[in-house]
Amino acid sequence: MSTIARSSHSNRSDVRSYKGIGVSPGIAIGRAIMVEKRIASVYRVPIREDEVASEVTRFSEALEKTREELLELKQKVSRSMGDEYASIFDAHAMIVGDASFADKVVQKIEEEQVNAEWALSEVQEELQARFASFDNDYLRERVADVKDVAERVLTNLQGIAHHDLSEIGHDVIIIADDLTPSDTVHFNRRPVIGFATETGGRTSHTSIIAKSLFMPAVIGVPKLTKMVDNDELIIVDGYEGTIIVNPNDALVKEYESRVSRHDEQEKRLLENRDLPSITRDDRPISLQANIELVEELDDTIKFGAQGIGLYRSEFLYISKSPVLPTEEEHFELYKRLAETSAPHSCVVRTFDLGGKKLAREVMGSKEDNPVLGLRALRLCMKHRDMFKTQLRALLRASIHGNLKIMFPLVSGVQELRQVKTLIREIKGELDAEGIPYNPKLPVGIMIEVPSAAVIADLLATEADFFAIGTNDLIQYSLAIDRANENVSYLYEPLHPALLRLIKGVIDAGKRAKIPVSMCGEMAADPLFAVVLIGLGLEIFSMNPSAIPVIKNVVRSVRYKDCRKIADVVLNKKTAQEIEEFIIETVAMKFPEGLVNRSL
Ligand code: PEP
Ligand code: MG
Repeated sequence: MSTIARSSHSNRSDVRSYKGIGVSPGIAIGRAIMVEKRIASVYRVPIREDEVASEVTRFSEALEKTREELLELKQKVSRSMGDEYASIFDAHAMIVGDASFADKVVQKIEEEQVNAEWALSEVQEELQARFASFDNDYLRERVADVKDVAERVLTNLQGIAHHDLSEIGHDVIIIADDLTPSDTVHFNRRPVIGFATETGGRTSHTSIIAKSLFMPAVIGVPKLTKMVDNDELIIVDGYEGTIIVNPNDALVKEYESRVSRHDEQEKRLLENRDLPSITRDDRPISLQANIELVEELDDTIKFGAQGIGLYRSEFLYISKSPVLPTEEEHFELYKRLAETSAPHSCVVRTFDLGGKKLAREVMGSKEDNPVLGLRALRLCMKHRDMFKTQLRALLRASIHGNLKIMFPLVSGVQELRQVKTLIREIKGELDAEGIPYNPKLPVGIMIEVPSAAVIADLLATEADFFAIGTNDLIQYSLAIDRANENVSYLYEPLHPALLRLIKGVIDAGKRAKIPVSMCGEMAADPLFAVVLIGLGLEIFSMNPSAIPVIKNVVRSVRYKDCRKIADVVLNKKTAQEIEEFIIETVAMKFPEGLVNRSL
């Protein structure tokens, strides 16, 4: 559920166009809908003694309004979906009606003389922590209900009306200041057909999810929420990174015909689906899929992926948050992934939570610098129980298909040794319980921290495979926040420093005879593919829909020529010089249309 602020419709009827960063290809035409943050920041405001009574009344009114809303919602769901679904609101109603919940808030307002919002947030946190600590699954699942109820009351306290997107009968484009990956996961169905935001970065997880959902998206449009009114007609051009507001009929027609042209091109590219992925001089290049959502499994087949090169398992957590997935839920999913990918392999990356992908209520306090904080493997090693649940499930699922396990954000050999020790411990436990697993389950690591890239030769002696994560490798080596639109102009995959790091990792892998893949967004760009093939990369993993485009490149080039291009490129000084050189050479050497970066 989202909170939608309906601003008054302005008289602006002129055609306006705004530039941002196109992060998910495609064109969407629909009506704007503004989304505000579900909950505005809550501040602790001290109140005077003579204000306490009116503050308590304000809270009671918001609670009463919430009770009425929930009842209405339950009746609506019961009518449209049946009583079974409607009963999910019983727990909500119980919390709203629970005198101890309301009493606690009132008590806090009175004793601490604080505003109702603050008192409510405090009680919410206490309750959530209490429910989360229960062993019983049913009680733990109530954490989400407490959160939902508290958010509704808070929203009512702040005088914002609730609306549900499903009430809208036409296609909509979400216009927001910012969207989290979990917001985006929930846009997984009509009426939402595209979105545009003020903030974000090319390789942020929100952008990655948009691609997974085939949802055209433009981010980083300055002051967008001030430029657009609810209900205005919007074109999101995810190829060019443009937002057009109030287009006239001619413009709409032009964009509609562009959509058909792109569809045609996509169809043509899909014709190579069953053809081998080899260069013209017979070098095989494996093209695998990155997936975040189980729904994407069909896409891996549709686009001809040779297995799953990266399953971002944290999205299992995000979709269940704030309740942690059980061992059985992990197991069933990994088994399904491995079986669907067979005979190809499926690489499951353990939770990369933290950074910008963390539900604070379960993992603890907020960090000032989360991207350099308790993220990924570090966070998992701290929350051992959660991690062991995932590792046990992975080991159990390893007897199905061709599963591989991968750890994110490894910075050195010691970290890898520690996690391998943990795996040994878990294997011992499984042995004792008589539970089967694949004793040779390959254990690989992401190379996405500069220190790991620099010591790739050392890590290669203890890891079974490498996957280069350029999204983070660029972020950490070029010192640019991947989710910050202000520095996205510095996001340069062709930066000489990055190309040297990548070459070092590929060479180290070859010397140690372990496979090296790339699963960062860089692997999905046809222009970069030419250089990467030349640097010796043999496994590319990407959003499934990008596979036909890269296969087109692979089948059009000669490895020999790519090597020559890579040799020249490694001696150039700037990303701009490198890009110009590649474009010129590719245009000369390879068939026209090879470098189509807009698909
Ligand atoms: C990467 O960093 O390149 C990567 C593939 O991982 P993620 O985008 O999930 O951080
Ligand atoms: Mg990463």
